[in-house]
Amino acid sequence: MGYFKDIFVGGLSLIEGMGVTVRRLFQPLVTVQYPRQKIPLSSAYRGHIELKVFEESGTHKCIVCLNCEKTCPSGVIRVQGEKQKEKGPKTLTNYVIDFSKCSLCGLCVEICPTSTLVYSKEYELVGETGADCQIDLMARLATQVEKTREEKKTQEIAA
Ligand code: SF4
Ligand code: SF4
Repeated sequence: MGYFKDIFVGGLSLIEGMGVTVRRLFQPLVTVQYPRQKIPLSSAYRGHIELKVFEESGTHKCIVCLNCEKTCPSGVIRVQGEKQKEKGPKTLTNYVIDFSKCSLCGLCVEICPTSTLVYSKEYELVGETGADCQIDLMARLATQVEKTREEKKTQEIAA
């Protein structure tokens, strides 16, 4: 008797499972085929920090005040600048973060007097060593500036 009961319960559970599968077939998809498909990120998403490119100048507005470096509780920011003229302001020459220790607390973004620090939308970072987590924001900025220029050119051609 127990044998037939097991077959009955097993069959019932199979039908229930198939019912769920068939029902899902006719419902809208809630998954995407990553990485071929990507969904828009929330505006609240925090990737590692980056230097913002301002439209009017086509570059960042960092004044090398070092507020971010001094404020970072994890001590992961290294900023360097150089004076072009003896009495002039410093120009940013190097901005590197160690993202492996960044807690994304946002203090650097808040303290920046020129609002030139923002969160990137980066979420596909991979690395095998600590060195892979050293992010050179100046190099990243150069790529962004080039990308913005290309996008502008494409928009102008399309208009
Ligand atoms: S988000 Fe916080 S931990 Fe990360 S670099 Fe900025 S101040 Fe440092
Ligand atoms: S706080 Fe802003 S302006 Fe000052 S060094 Fe950092 S990024 Fe540059």
